[in-house]
Amino acid sequence: MIIDIFNHFMPKPYLDRLTQLIPRHVATTAFPRLATLVDVDARLRLLDEFDDFAQVLSLANPPLELVGSLEITPELARIANDALAEICRQHPDRFPAFVAALPMNNMDATLIEIDRAISDLGARGIQVFTNVAGRPLSDPQYRPLFRRMAVIGAGLIGSSVIRAARAGNVVGGIAVADASGAVLDRVRALGLADDVFADPSRAARGADLVVIAVPPLAIGAVAAEIGEALEDGAIVTDVGSVKTVVAEAFAAHLPSRVFAIPGHPIAGTEESGPDAGYATLFAHRWTILTPQARQDAPYLAAVARLTTFWEALGANVEIMDERHHDLVLAVTSHLPHLIAYNIVGTAADLEQVTRSEVIKYSAGGFRDFTRIAASDPIMWRDVFLANKDAVLEILGRFTEDLQALSRAIRWGEGDKLHELFTRTREIRRGVIDAGQETPEPDFGRHHEER
Ligand code: NAP
Repeated sequence: MIIDIFNHFMPKPYLDRLTQLIPRHVATTAFPRLATLVDVDARLRLLDEFDDFAQVLSLANPPLELVGSLEITPELARIANDALAEICRQHPDRFPAFVAALPMNNMDATLIEIDRAISDLGARGIQVFTNVAGRPLSDPQYRPLFRRMAVIGAGLIGSSVIRAARAGNVVGGIAVADASGAVLDRVRALGLADDVFADPSRAARGADLVVIAVPPLAIGAVAAEIGEALEDGAIVTDVGSVKTVVAEAFAAHLPSRVFAIPGHPIAGTEESGPDAGYATLFAHRWTILTPQARQDAPYLAAVARLTTFWEALGANVEIMDERHHDLVLAVTSHLPHLIAYNIVGTAADLEQVTRSEVIKYSAGGFRDFTRIAASDPIMWRDVFLANKDAVLEILGRFTEDLQALSRAIRWGEGDKLHELFTRTREIRRGVIDAGQETPEPDFGRHHEER
């Protein structure tokens, strides 16, 4: 069972201690800075994003300044959880699960209540309220991390950044710019931004965080367009899948009075556009930042702030050199996409096998390649052009290994094939153990009972 800790402004030391102490059989994940106490709509929107949270009951603990006494909170949590569990029992169709409330100010009582809520009451998650010192919600520590975020390019990734940042109260205002009028119309209709512009420099003006989420080879042009409009001390980042070209473009086009920090969330789908995004896209996934070689304190502070931003969106953050990033991603992402594009193309061109047979028998493996090969053509064209050297290097290795495999097949060397297939199975287990894939067979696809 995975328990999501909905963390209401939880002080980090408390969160760390809590996650250490939670029973070992329970896998935990934390969403820092979810602003559920102050923004009820954001909280409901977030819960909507969880597939198995069709309707989840949860009860926010009242702020301590209203309760008056710290001693009363264990009792309040117990009453709340008993009531929530009872409602779930009585209305299983409407409320299949509940998120337990915890008496955050009392660690011993918290641990007892976690155990009780999970083991006895069947809670699906735990929720901790942390207004532990009775601080009013106007306290500066509850302010959003960035006053105003500009997102240039509101497609799958840009709109997901917006949704996740909104859900977590991580940013104050949001401005969006996009080259496509149709996208801007959707952004307005979905209510994703406070201000919408066709011109990126107008969106960037006054923002203390700018996220460029356009296809990799368009990032340099956007950086050049917004350079002059940027506020002193603004953080400018991107989400492009290739990092060396972005590092060069940022160095060439962004003024030194801003903090340029390229980035790449390793999360996505084969869909595009603002309707495809969702708030939990980055949860439990990695985001790689490739900072410049600057070592001055303000720049390092900006990197730390951007790291906190991504963590608040649910991601784990890794810092990496941009060339190493491009090599790693050439293996883990770019080459697999190239293979998928190629194999789907080959199957489509085969004359001895009809197109209807390819589709009809696709569950034999081909189907999983078609998902990858449905990815955005513009973005992937850009990825291969922008990461040419690393992709060609890895492709060279891949071609040699493929030739060795075809020789093993030709000469009937079953041992070689068996040894490789055994090793690759281990790698899949490693991906599952790292929480990057579901352990369910067939990617968790639902099948009819036989
Ligand atoms: P997307 O859904 O196609 O969105 C990109 C948006 O940017 C589109 O609305 C596009 O408008 C707009 N755009 C293009 N050029 C622009 C410009 N010069 N100025 C302003 N807007 C512009 O693409 P995405 O999947 O979100 O990808 C965005 C970035 O995220 C890419 O750099 C990609 O490498 C990276 N990324 C993608 C994934 C993934 O799985 N998709 C994962 C991680 C990172 P038009 O429709 O008019 O072109």
